[in-house]
Amino acid sequence: MATVTLRGIRKSFKETDVLRGVDLQVGDGEFVSLVGPSGCGKSTLLRIIAGLEGQSAGSVEIAGAAVDGLRAADRNLSMVFQSYALYPHLTVAENIAVPLRMRRLSTAQRLPLVGRFMPGTTARLREIEDRVQDAAGTLEIDRLLDRKPGQLSGGQRQRVALGRALVRSPAAFLLDEPLSNLDAKLRVHTRTEIAELHRRLDATFIYVTHDQVEAMTMSDRIAVMMGGEILQCDTPARIYEDPVDLRVAEFIGSPK
Ligand code: ADP
Ligand code: MG
Repeated sequence: MATVTLRGIRKSFKETDVLRGVDLQVGDGEFVSLVGPSGCGKSTLLRIIAGLEGQSAGSVEIAGAAVDGLRAADRNLSMVFQSYALYPHLTVAENIAVPLRMRRLSTAQRLPLVGRFMPGTTARLREIEDRVQDAAGTLEIDRLLDRKPGQLSGGQRQRVALGRALVRSPAAFLLDEPLSNLDAKLRVHTRTEIAELHRRLDATFIYVTHDQVEAMTMSDRIAVMMGGEILQCDTPARIYEDPVDLRVAEFIGSPK
């Protein structure tokens, strides 16, 4: 079954057509990378799937249901950005817990409360604590739970961001160049960890990167985007050996 289905997604900012009709199906448990040169529309597409941006046309389905009217918090997806976007004044544990607290509150309640106050019963607080512990254990950051983001290395911060994505058991993970702020060595290490996490959780990933090597090593399928369109979506081997056209071949570095 497809976890994420995109049909005819278009997006224009003023007169500029950024997405020109994107169709994509990502299966349950599949790892699909979205690659393409800077400015081709990868982040915009991911933000539309996440509900952080509205599309000009087309539809998004998650687990078989149209989500076009749903706000981001109600789409049951977790997004990880390159900038981590952690709250500096909250501890690691509180940062990871943020999505669990937000989900139960209306927008009006949410804004002033984030990080200050955990509404709910003791049982609910206990459940949140358990889930934070689980996510932190999976990512091996359980001993960092009381620290603030400023006391962490870049790699540790990225794990906290992953922990925050993991804690809500989403239908799919959306990652937007999550490794680009890390140095080369840590990037390779974290890449391996994300691939391992995918195997272990059997979770669905849509992974944006401009690094084709990263995509080749991690993905079940790669969607090559250019100029607001997906030119080809295929297994790494087929993309490499049988690119549909020269633009794909050049981007991937296939022998011509
Ligand atoms: P990528 O992630 O592939 O680098 P983006 O999705 O960020 O590409 O951007 C695709 C194009 O859309 C770029 O030309 C960018 O300038 C434009 N764009 C993105 N967001 C906006 C916006 N909020 N307003 C106007 N143009 C935008
Ligand atoms: Mg981008």
